[in-house]
Amino acid sequence: MNASTPVLPIITGSMLYDMVACPHRVAMDMFANPAERDKASPFVQLLWEHGTAYEEQVVANIGEPFIDLSVHSGLEKERLTLEAMVRGEQLIYGGRIADGDLLGYPDLLRKEAAGYVAGDIKSGAGEEGGGYEGEGRPKKHYAVQIALYTDILERLGRADRRWGFIWDIRGKEVPYDLMALYGERNPRRLWDDYKDCLGKARDITSRAIITLPAYGSGTCKNCVWYTACIKYLEEANDLTLIPELGRSKREALISRIGTIRELARINPADFIAGGRTVFAGIGPPTLEKLHARAKLLTAGDGKPYLREPVNLPKADVELFFDLEVDPMRDLCYLHGFIERRGGANESERYFSFFADATTAATEEMAFTEALHYILATQPSTIYYYSKYERTMYRKLRQKYPNVCAEAEIEALFNQPHSVDLYNDVVLKATEWPTRDFSIKTLAKQLGFSWRDTHPSGAASIEWFHRWFETHDPGYRQRILDYNEDDCRATRVLLDGIRKLPIELI
Ligand code: SF4
Repeated sequence: MNASTPVLPIITGSMLYDMVACPHRVAMDMFANPAERDKASPFVQLLWEHGTAYEEQVVANIGEPFIDLSVHSGLEKERLTLEAMVRGEQLIYGGRIADGDLLGYPDLLRKEAAGYVAGDIKSGAGEEGGGYEGEGRPKKHYAVQIALYTDILERLGRADRRWGFIWDIRGKEVPYDLMALYGERNPRRLWDDYKDCLGKARDITSRAIITLPAYGSGTCKNCVWYTACIKYLEEANDLTLIPELGRSKREALISRIGTIRELARINPADFIAGGRTVFAGIGPPTLEKLHARAKLLTAGDGKPYLREPVNLPKADVELFFDLEVDPMRDLCYLHGFIERRGGANESERYFSFFADATTAATEEMAFTEALHYILATQPSTIYYYSKYERTMYRKLRQKYPNVCAEAEIEALFNQPHSVDLYNDVVLKATEWPTRDFSIKTLAKQLGFSWRDTHPSGAASIEWFHRWFETHDPGYRQRILDYNEDDCRATRVLLDGIRKLPIELI
């Protein structure tokens, strides 16, 4: 390298991991004022602690010879990793590989027939969207990391093929075939995702492109840049503060409509011709819906309303159902229900089924008892918020097939006895003057308040870990109170929706 060779910013695997969730996160980490960074939440700290402890436990039980480079750092670590590969070591733990602007810290490098493959140890499931046995899709944020390691190995002339693996929380090795087609009709591969992600990361780190924050209730709330980004978004009156208007829709709109106020002022018909809008990927009904939301958010005294009548079942017994699940232990630790009879709030009682240990036997017991409870209340209508409860019950049945038949779970979650208030009602038929449609946001909008000062699903998982570590009953009670309030919030939301006026947009 001579003095005029430009020094490219380094791209790491964790940078690409963050890119998948939010490209702006990469820019903030590199260029924002560190003083604007929030403290990592207790939940995020727990994830780190758990990830480290899990990795140590896995490494202690590898059961085959390996070379441990985790105690080394920097260029020394890199040199030792390269030497280990040259010697043909079978398994290398905690190495470092680099080429050009790419730098990777694969947890594992394993010798295969034609070279090395890289793997990571993750304290989460290795796939997403599958059942208990797996069979889901590779996680894109894991895949881009594995692909970066593989790319470096190729450049070093040390790669086997374009694949890698994850050792996941269930002790499974999940192969990541980076060259497999997504599907017969989809010619994309994970390798294409990696190349796109890498290109964008290079553009961001070299400042060829400037990113903007984009509000996402799932991604932003546990991010260390939350306060800084929300401040920016509010001051900019940014379009992503409209529910379901994310980064890609903003990109489609922004050359003509830059703020919520501007969107509120438009006449959608001016942007529609021949059954299409002028905005890529946004159809006329979506534009009209987003316009209505913009008007509601800018109205000042905007009130929620129904876009169309909703047909909610009438039942003497209503169950408001909420689960608490620890993804780090892959454990459903609480099934909570508010039971209301005859529509009378005074009749409300809270029933809970808690896994008092982190064993499969206690999880199965809580599942069995909760299921018996639901069946004993029949006929009843079950309300829950999102597809999560149904998905988890299917997974639990797969995990514990002796508890009940598959058909029983399907019957339980069949309409009209069961209503997913989020997907079947809120998204389909309601509008709210809020920036997202989470149960917390909507129930608070209706005047409900949680007893806990920091209520969240993430906090509940953190309390569960603390309870397990300390056996302090205060943590257990905090989880139960939080879950009871979540169940009650679902009831408050149902009652609120029943009273909403209809406004056709
Ligand atoms: S707060 Fe949200 S927009 Fe900002 S960096 Fe984090 S995830 Fe991205």
